[in-house]
Amino acid sequence: MTISRGREAAVAGAETRTGIIIIGSGFGGLGMAIRLRQEGRDDFLILERAGDVGGTWRDNTYPGAACDVQSHLYSFSFALNPEWSHSFSRQPEIQAYLRRTAEEYEILPRVRFHHEVTSAEWDEAAGHWRVRAAGRDFAAPVLVMAAGALSDPMIPAIPGLDAFRGRAFHSSQWDHAYDLAGKRVAVIGTGASAIQFVPAIQPVVGRLHLFQRTPPWIIPRHDRPLGRAGQALFRRVPAAQKAVRAGIYLAREAFVFGFRNPRAMAVAQRTALRHLRRSVPDPVLRAKLTPDFTMGCKRVLLSNDYLPALTRPNVEVVTDAIAEIRARSIITRDRVEREVDAIILGTGFRPTDPPLAPVTRGREGRTLAEAWKGSPQAHLGTTVAGFPNLFILLGPNTGLGHTSVVYMIEAQLEHVIRALRHMRETGVAALEPRPEAQAAFVAEVDRRMRGTVWTHGGCASWYLDETGRNSTLWPDFTWRFRRRLSRFDPSEYRMTTMDGRMPR
Ligand code: NAP
Repeated sequence: MTISRGREAAVAGAETRTGIIIIGSGFGGLGMAIRLRQEGRDDFLILERAGDVGGTWRDNTYPGAACDVQSHLYSFSFALNPEWSHSFSRQPEIQAYLRRTAEEYEILPRVRFHHEVTSAEWDEAAGHWRVRAAGRDFAAPVLVMAAGALSDPMIPAIPGLDAFRGRAFHSSQWDHAYDLAGKRVAVIGTGASAIQFVPAIQPVVGRLHLFQRTPPWIIPRHDRPLGRAGQALFRRVPAAQKAVRAGIYLAREAFVFGFRNPRAMAVAQRTALRHLRRSVPDPVLRAKLTPDFTMGCKRVLLSNDYLPALTRPNVEVVTDAIAEIRARSIITRDRVEREVDAIILGTGFRPTDPPLAPVTRGREGRTLAEAWKGSPQAHLGTTVAGFPNLFILLGPNTGLGHTSVVYMIEAQLEHVIRALRHMRETGVAALEPRPEAQAAFVAEVDRRMRGTVWTHGGCASWYLDETGRNSTLWPDFTWRFRRRLSRFDPSEYRMTTMDGRMPR
């Protein structure tokens, strides 16, 4: 089996210098570039490992891929799109929106495609980051990491997976050349990706064995095509689209009450159980699909067609754990062997173990991975003590389970812009959070996390890192995050000028 983990090219060359290096060209990297342009800066470069912009929306092309947050909210506030065709847009439309936005803001000439970053080191003497990508060297005083929290696939350590002789691939690396028609297909995982592609492939495949470890909570998805009249109105009256956006924002924010008071999730759970009863008449199958943890502990999923697809005669929901994979089959712990032609891994990503962490070295020569010791931490989810002029978009504790992460990215972008302005205005060459400021923020996050559905929901989720801490999610209303990041407080940072002095 071959599962690619990224692309690399080795071309020797001289060091390229710029003002700001941005890693990644998804929502985060493009948003940063656009905000820099709006600030009148074009001394930046984006290093992108793939051949196009779009990040997760470029990579996740699996059948049925769509956003489970309404597009009027899941888009840049500074690049509203009146033309969305559905409330919940499909992947090609989101990818096209990102590409178009990059073109409109003339970002593409600043992107170095097929440049996978292999190391980033702070050079204290020179006062800049040295970044290596595709065998080339780049240097800049400021490094913005926008490589995405959900960019590298999690390939499960199931014995024998490497020895499988059929076709195997991860949902984020979909093999469109492989014809699934009539095939015996195993799907491993029942998360946000699987519930979208399972109903899309079920009518095509011969047999579908769905290996489920944990049944997710699923609520109906109220998707509808957005008519021409609405699009025309939004084109002519942007305020109308902003009002719709605000309405969606407020409705989704209501989930936070439940996340912070797990017992209040009972109302939404009743909706989900009604949805399950209506979709799955067979009580035995329904029992298999009934979650035993509090809703919200794992991401709440939205789908109208996943549960009905599981009732079709060519689908089997397997709840026995996988013991091993052989050349042409999967064997479960109860020793049942199922022959399959293909395995599709819907097993998610590695957000608490970001691939750049072991290769990013700060002021004292330590890597981010060494500083974090398995539990990522950052001041305001954005800057890290010991790592000067490093800004991480969608860094630790900035993820969400209920609404648009683009909102969080935009809050971070404003913070980075404020920090950069401060540096320019005061002659600061390098800044990083004071360890005590970072520790206070992390303590505040941990305090807000207490008693929430993520720590008291009775599930093991990928939100938790190897130390058991939730270092992934923001545990409160998102407007609180935005308000917290809306000011740049110099007293929270250690700053130096060009000659190593403290600034005036
Ligand atoms: P995921 O939510 O992490 O789900 C992974 C699935 O694989 C889970 O069901 C997990 O079971 C299962 N799994 C993992 N390792 C396994 C193993 N060794 N054996 C058996 N089962 C295993 O991954 P995802 O579905 O790709 O979604 C990841 C995230 O991407 C989402 O939470 C969401 O943030 C984002 N996403 C968003 C959208 C959107 O519409 N905006 C769409 C897709 C994805 P357990 O539950 O037991 O761990």
